[in-house]
Amino acid sequence: MAKRDYYDVLGVAKNASEEEIKKAYRKLAMKYHPDRNQGKDGAGAKEAEEKFKEVKEAYEILSDASKRAAYDRFGHAGVDASAAAGAGGFAGAQGFGSFADAFGDIFGDIFGARAGGGRSNAYRGADLRYNMEITLEQAARGFATDIRVPSWENCETCDGSGAKPGTKPRTCSTCGGSGAVRMTQGFFSIQQTCPTCHGSGRVIADPCAACGGAGRIKKNKVLEVNIPAGIDEGQRIRLAGKGEPGMNGGPPGDLYVEIRIKPHEVFQRDGDDLHCEVPVSIVTAALGGDVEVATLDGKVSLTIPEGTQTGKTFRLRGKGIKGVRSSYPGDLYCHITVETPVRLTEKQKKLLREFGASLQEGGAKHSPQTKGFMDRMKGFFTAE
Ligand SMILES: [Zn+2]
Ligand SMILES: [Zn+2]
Repeated sequence: MAKRDYYDVLGVAKNASEEEIKKAYRKLAMKYHPDRNQGKDGAGAKEAEEKFKEVKEAYEILSDASKRAAYDRFGHAGVDASAAAGAGGFAGAQGFGSFADAFGDIFGDIFGARAGGGRSNAYRGADLRYNMEITLEQAARGFATDIRVPSWENCETCDGSGAKPGTKPRTCSTCGGSGAVRMTQGFFSIQQTCPTCHGSGRVIADPCAACGGAGRIKKNKVLEVNIPAGIDEGQRIRLAGKGEPGMNGGPPGDLYVEIRIKPHEVFQRDGDDLHCEVPVSIVTAALGGDVEVATLDGKVSLTIPEGTQTGKTFRLRGKGIKGVRSSYPGDLYCHITVETPVRLTEKQKKLLREFGASLQEGGAKHSPQTKGFMDRMKGFFTAE
């Protein structure tokens, strides 16, 4: 189906100003907006929707100065991305509007990775990541350690040139040493990494035996890392310049040590706070008493008040972790679980039965949770 001219769609002249285009669009969009045409019969609503789409598309092109220019020169083919792609990669003049968009990334790759700007074939070395798994205690206190990192080092035999000592790399004849070649397609020329020298600008006739011409050798290097106290899961320590060496005089990359914290037997960490479960006997929970609680600095005594229920949480201020950027340490939350006694002797069972009978005499006042539960049940059944 032939597309209508965008200027006709909006009902404006070819030399319409931005303001005129905007005005015309607003008027038509209001008229055909789907929300405003719901009341119509099926066909009417469908037609309004089609019109609305057409108006929107026309406005999107004509309100954008560069798209409008492409449309003025090449018509619909100049701005239709799918038409350009369908014509296959280098769409030449037809794909004007979308061409720059589609190839922006490629130019970015070729020129963006260069360091220094002046020497076009100097590359910054790659960044490296080292995953380190540590314990919660190590994370809380911080520590220093050595890590071994596999890394490319400059070859000492050839001093990084890749050429056998006494010989020199030749300038690449394909690209004349620039590392890039220019390809011309229709109106456009595009720069690509030289296929002969892979961007280095040089060709090695007599490679160095130690490194096979690569100019570098894989080695393990040992680095000291200081893990700051309070570091958390997923945080990274940057060792500037400790990544892979650069190419052709480019600067080295960085090394990032990324922290993973092993699960702890007692504590769960949440930012600067710690959480732990504290089991308490029925007797202590009912009468109150002291229980021992572990913290990262050793055991402390926690006083449980009379009548403590399961799920009750006690906060120990400052017994959490002081984060790397925090001014104060977090807190330790102790979540109480009242423990049901098991493997009772006959005598203990007898005592419990007697105890149970005495609870019954007191009625519901001894069991606040049971009372609440029964009340809710009652409401549930009468609602039937
Ligand atoms: Zn070498
Ligand atoms: Zn080359």
